[in-house]
Amino acid sequence: MDLTGELFLAGERVRGTGAELRATDPRTGDTLEPVYRLGTTDDVDRAATAAAQAFRPYRRTDPKVRAEFLDSIADGLAALGEEIVERVQRETGIAEPRVRGELARTVNQLRLFAGVVRDGSYTGARVETALPDRKPLPRPDLRQHKVPLGPVAVFGASNFPLAFSVAGGDTASALAAGCPVVVKAHSSHPGTSELVAGVVTAAVAAHDLPAGTFSLLYGEGREVGTALVAHPAIAAVGFTGSRAGGTALVAVANARPRPIPVYAEMSSINPVVLLPAALRERGRAVGEGFVASLTTGVGQLCTSPGLVLAVDSPGLQDFLDGAAAAVRASAAAPMLSAGICTAYDRGVQALRDNPAVEEIATGADDDSLAAAGTTHLFTTTAEAFLRDDSLAEEVFGASSLVVRVPGPEALPEVLDRIEGQLTATVHLGAGDEPTAADLLPALEEKVGRIVVNGWPTGVDVGEAIVHGGPFPATSDGRSTSVGTLAIERFLRPVAYQDVPASLLPADLGQVP
Ligand code: NAP
Repeated sequence: MDLTGELFLAGERVRGTGAELRATDPRTGDTLEPVYRLGTTDDVDRAATAAAQAFRPYRRTDPKVRAEFLDSIADGLAALGEEIVERVQRETGIAEPRVRGELARTVNQLRLFAGVVRDGSYTGARVETALPDRKPLPRPDLRQHKVPLGPVAVFGASNFPLAFSVAGGDTASALAAGCPVVVKAHSSHPGTSELVAGVVTAAVAAHDLPAGTFSLLYGEGREVGTALVAHPAIAAVGFTGSRAGGTALVAVANARPRPIPVYAEMSSINPVVLLPAALRERGRAVGEGFVASLTTGVGQLCTSPGLVLAVDSPGLQDFLDGAAAAVRASAAAPMLSAGICTAYDRGVQALRDNPAVEEIATGADDDSLAAAGTTHLFTTTAEAFLRDDSLAEEVFGASSLVVRVPGPEALPEVLDRIEGQLTATVHLGAGDEPTAADLLPALEEKVGRIVVNGWPTGVDVGEAIVHGGPFPATSDGRSTSVGTLAIERFLRPVAYQDVPASLLPADLGQVP
């Protein structure tokens, strides 16, 4: 497909009239063709209004049609093959195997949600039949199911240009729920966004769905993104990005005459707790495994292990030695964009400038890369960590801080200091279980996923996964953005009381 740089407004290709945007290859610094023109608030209005018009007919489509629609987006993405793999690499610097893996995951997510729609149980139908003789009051016939919220605004993520972007998890779950989607493309990968939007738009047409079911806008977050979230037709928002961006959009949503939910995934340092027996039994191997997780995706994954709470015990030195050797052996790799690289360097420099922090290992640098991400490993004491909140801030990239915790009894106080997280990981060995059992309730209050003797990176997309967590991991910790439960974010319950069978929705009429 030839890239044209045009917006997708309810099935039409339209040249934007805003400022110019060109993608940059973060490996070389080269700007890429074509020139994109950003959308304006008028385009936002057109897309959101068309989405509102599409909502009722789209949500009433036969679930079979909606499932086929999702499957055909999956087919279309898979068919893009080399074209999309190459464009993603050029716009993000993500290594080819990871791009292929992400493409497969995105295709599978769409198929997973097609299965959810076919299965139908996502509507959560519940039935309480009438009890006319109940005393003191008769019970009415009550039936409940969930309905879609309305048009959803999706913000593409810089670090998952496929799986969390134009046809990623937010879009797949919203479309599955019966909600039209308006995507605000991430400005660092407009070409990838255009390719995927072409596939979604073709699938909308092929299934005779209302044109407003899907639109794609390019634009400045502060103008186009804000206008989209503020638009009266938009009913919910899915976002992955920075804490500043996510909280700004939550504020916009809350300031509307009719506030709407924003599901923003923002900042997480994913603490890893190392207990004494794990360190004693396999300290070095844990150190090596930790760095393998830390350097995955050049550390630009929301689940990257940015903080290690290691109990000061025999074996800790083995861990540090193994980790430091792995860090020194790690190669520099391109970061997603010059902006993200600059923010990373700033975060690393702040740790270097902190007198309570020691840098124990640095990975190789690579001057030939325009936006090189180098691995860094730091240590500090629990005392210093408790004194200085800045040490618990996300440094987005392959940098991690090991906190030496004097004993297992000091772990709860350190964990208490940490904000909400997507994940927490515990490494334990023989005899560590009682300590772990004491920690679990506190971890459960802090995070969305608890991992034992593994690593937080690598999120399995399925029925039981949770990718969410208390603020600031997400703006609403009651949900997940990955896995089948993600559909819940775009639904709300409605009860039918004493409604005759002839008027009941199909899923409620069928329940005995
Ligand atoms: P970002 O700056 O938050 O941008 C994400 C999206 O939100 C973009 O479309 C952006 O628009 C828009 N946006 C940003 N600020 C906005 C505002 N105030 N009002 C309305 N829209 C706004 O995130 P990013 O570009 O992906 O990366 C920047 C930093 O985010 C990283 O360095 C990292 O710290 C963090 N990050 C975290 C995660 C995570 O999962 N924890 C993932 C990705 C990034 P524009 O197109 O105008 O930029």
